[in-house]
Amino acid sequence: MFHYEDGLKLTQADLAIDFRRRQPRAFISHAHADHMARHEYALCTPETSALYQFRLGRRRTMEMPYRQPVEWGGLRLTTYPAGHCLGSAMLLAENQQQSLLYTGDFKLGPSATAEEAELPRADILVIESTFGDPSFQFPPRRESIERLLDLVRRTLRAGDTPVVLAYALGKGQEVTRVLTDAGFGVLQHTRIFEISRIYESLGVALGRHAPYCGRTEPEHVVMVPPGTPVPEEIPRPVRIAVTGWAVDPRAKYRLRADHAVALSDHADYGQLLEAIERVSPKKIYCTHGPDTFVDRLRDAGLDAQPLAHPRQRRLFR
Ligand SMILES: [Zn+2]
Repeated sequence: MFHYEDGLKLTQADLAIDFRRRQPRAFISHAHADHMARHEYALCTPETSALYQFRLGRRRTMEMPYRQPVEWGGLRLTTYPAGHCLGSAMLLAENQQQSLLYTGDFKLGPSATAEEAELPRADILVIESTFGDPSFQFPPRRESIERLLDLVRRTLRAGDTPVVLAYALGKGQEVTRVLTDAGFGVLQHTRIFEISRIYESLGVALGRHAPYCGRTEPEHVVMVPPGTPVPEEIPRPVRIAVTGWAVDPRAKYRLRADHAVALSDHADYGQLLEAIERVSPKKIYCTHGPDTFVDRLRDAGLDAQPLAHPRQRRLFR
């Protein structure tokens, strides 16, 4: 049903999945840079189509709203919410003989700005397993949010400026909504603000936020993408990284942050196992995660193997 040729391809449909190099026809699971390229023709959800074209210019796309199957090259293709960022999708491909579910980046459970993930059953599961190690067990979402809000309150009370480090697409909007729901205003770096405008145009309200224009305001949080220098004029910045890597107590040093909060848009170890149980596949291919995750699945009696050579792990997820 599929083969690996510098990436995952659905053989029968001649469809590349999440390629970073230009393809004649490709499925894009979501609009993060490591999942897309300027394809000749892209299949994706309407939200991903808007974000993809914002980032890479006007392109030809076929929009695939969630849960609406299309016939494509002898396959029936259906997208399901992946819970990772707005428009993020899993892809279910079915023919007469078998079915394959490609998760893309995903997270289970609720989110303030993305639809909760749905997991249909499939014979073959290709699972993104970044946090495929038992040490990556995130605290309950409510607990991480409380910790973030507490850090922000304490920072403001001390007369310092909370500066949240969050990716421009997805994490930035998710954390903005969490903060504005709690009564704080958010001043966003331009790159985050531009994406926030698209979220709002697609019907996702983010509350009281504005672009950062060189001035902080009382009861406001500044938000910048990780790796971006914190503007020099910000008085006494306290950097708060928001990432799954925060479960490692040393993470804040690596992330050059004063604090790190474990709120992730990826599944943790427990969620990966839960996803596998819910999909009930006969065969599992793991991608993006540690080799030891495959070993653990095999030890548990599952038929698992890496999809290909593991790529270098990225710092922020
Ligand atoms: Zn992603």
